[in-house]
Amino acid sequence: MASTASYIVGNWKMNGSAADVAVLQAIAEAAAANGHVDVGICPPATLIAAFAAAAGKVQIGAQDCHAKASGAHTGNLSAAMIREAGATCSIVGHSERRADQGETDADVAAKAEALHAAGMGAILCVGETLEERDSGNAIAIVTAQLAASLPASASGDWLSVAYEPVWAIGTGRVPVAEDIAAMHAALRATLVAKLGEAGQGVRILYGGSVNPANAAEILAIADVGGALVGGASLKAETFIPIIEAAP
Ligand code: PGA
Repeated sequence: MASTASYIVGNWKMNGSAADVAVLQAIAEAAAANGHVDVGICPPATLIAAFAAAAGKVQIGAQDCHAKASGAHTGNLSAAMIREAGATCSIVGHSERRADQGETDADVAAKAEALHAAGMGAILCVGETLEERDSGNAIAIVTAQLAASLPASASGDWLSVAYEPVWAIGTGRVPVAEDIAAMHAALRATLVAKLGEAGQGVRILYGGSVNPANAAEILAIADVGGALVGGASLKAETFIPIIEAAP
């Protein structure tokens, strides 16, 4: 069943070391105390196993996976591999990977499908660049990106979408509430157009410079089902207030 709970996920990117299991433990305590919120942490793959052992009700996720189950793909990890390490979900299509690794919408759809085939969840990221925002076409661009990145079997049972404007990631800049609301409404319409009723159950997270000061306002916006948090997820003292701000 698709969950309607707020979903607060930390994306640690290429940060963290084994000593940070203490941070995860503090987050796990906060997750236990806020049972109405679904909490996830996506550490670097090297930390998945250690974090999974200390996660409590926190979902441990990867930041990427390969679309293929095995083979000659040096440096990559399959969905089954990250699942065996203890992950139950993965981010796919983060803008940093779309930019740094040249991932296409079709690649992202295939990765999400591979996660589903492995019995895992996927958090599928979309978002516009500053140039695209300034062009006035952000909604058309991002909804097209979602439509092309969405696997045919998608449903809220296993897939969430994260709207992350590229210009808001790590910059301290956040779109005004009206722009977030308009984008989330358009993404919802796209999900329903592509998936029918199943599109209603897909949670749409907002990501990009979410912090303890702005979390409550962002999470109260219509159709914002949670947050994908980068920098502020690295420390318990900035991530826990975001969990606590979730409705
Ligand atoms: P940020 O990153 O919270 O540091 O802006 C968000 C993300 O890239 O997922």
